[in-house]
Amino acid sequence: MQANSTGEDGVGVLGEPCFANDDSALLKLEAIEWPEAPICPRCKHMGPVYDLAKTRFGLKKCRKCSTQFTVRVGTVLQGSHLPLHIWLQAVFLLTAGEKPVSSLRLSRTLGISYKSAWLLTHRIRGALNDQTNERTH
Ligand SMILES: [Zn+2]
Repeated sequence: MQANSTGEDGVGVLGEPCFANDDSALLKLEAIEWPEAPICPRCKHMGPVYDLAKTRFGLKKCRKCSTQFTVRVGTVLQGSHLPLHIWLQAVFLLTAGEKPVSSLRLSRTLGISYKSAWLLTHRIRGALNDQTNERTH
């Protein structure tokens, strides 16, 4: 995995495959969500899983409870119709800069509708706030 070479403007980072390709984005997300091993969203078992990538890319099956899941389950990405790499770009744009990024700017940068951008902004900000709250308690 490449080191996070975030430049001041972030242009270099957005050129990485994980921002352009859904499968790469999934692998990136797995590395972020599961730094050690996949975690079953149902029984919270962490460790080796059955790899069902042949059925669907990124699909896993828990060895304990047989639940099938992907890294999307339980994250803000769940139930979203937007491609994963768009999400990653949005997360990056919303978290990397010092200045808050508006939904309008996000929609233009990512080439998505304003409604999608607004939804992304709120879901990502919400998730980030949850994380911050958990850490401070
Ligand atoms: Zn399980």
